[in-house]
Amino acid sequence: MQNFNRVVVIFVLSLLIFFFAYSFTQKQHRPEDVNNWKIGTSVSELQNYEVEDFVKLKQAGFDCIEMGLRGLNVTENPEETYETCKSIYEKASTAGIEIWSIHIPYGRSWDISEPDETKRADIIDKHRELFTICKYLKPEKLVIHGSFEPVPDDERAARFEASKESLGILANEAGKYDAQLTVECLPRTCIGHDSKEILALLEGNYDVEVCCDVNHLLFEKTEDFIETVGSHITTLHISDYDGEDERHWLPGQGIMNWNAVIGNLVSAGYQGPFMFECSGTPEEKMECWKKLKSDFLRSVEK
Ligand SMILES: [Zn+2]
Repeated sequence: MQNFNRVVVIFVLSLLIFFFAYSFTQKQHRPEDVNNWKIGTSVSELQNYEVEDFVKLKQAGFDCIEMGLRGLNVTENPEETYETCKSIYEKASTAGIEIWSIHIPYGRSWDISEPDETKRADIIDKHRELFTICKYLKPEKLVIHGSFEPVPDDERAARFEASKESLGILANEAGKYDAQLTVECLPRTCIGHDSKEILALLEGNYDVEVCCDVNHLLFEKTEDFIETVGSHITTLHISDYDGEDERHWLPGQGIMNWNAVIGNLVSAGYQGPFMFECSGTPEEKMECWKKLKSDFLRSVEK
């Protein structure tokens, strides 16, 4: 009889644990969670920003930014660049704006898919040097391109392997500054131009995450990419397009199915931020988010 009681107790406890675990995971995927997403926008040339400029962003409703690095050169002027970064961080913090992410420069001289090993080693070193600014800017994410373009067909396999290896090395480097490396999905012939290639880049690279640029997907629907890549997506670039090429339009001006995009992000457990990378003023972007959010919440009520 005692044994029977023990079995009953274990059974009931297991049921309770299952129930709580289940309700916890359900809780993480509620559509209303979009109300808690931080809202961000990409900004370049922050060295020209004063505290008031950050305050304006905050007043418009933004919580965070992605920082572009145009005009900053850590290789040529390390000390000056560090001072600039410190000052940017202080001004942003004073206004209550978080530096969520930094966009790593791209181009031939930053191409981590360079097949020549000696050249690639130099490119990796240049990234290492650049990442030292994280000490002063304290970003959560570093956004990187898997390659420059065009990638010729006969170089694709070699460039894919080079990119994958570089990502592993640089994710480890980013980790030294408590930042995560996120590889961005890209258009056209670039490495990482669809969900299959992005997932292949992540194989064995357990520290590498994904930045979903919703207007870069030319070979599959954005919502399908999000469904396939799922919880690997930890940051976004938000804009609209015509499905033909990247356009970086304000959401609503193109063909994007925003309810499906936001819905699949919620299902993937995405926690924000909703990071604009498009044309438009801060006020226009914030109006845009309010409309996308209310349209989405209304669509799931039905
Ligand atoms: Zn982008």
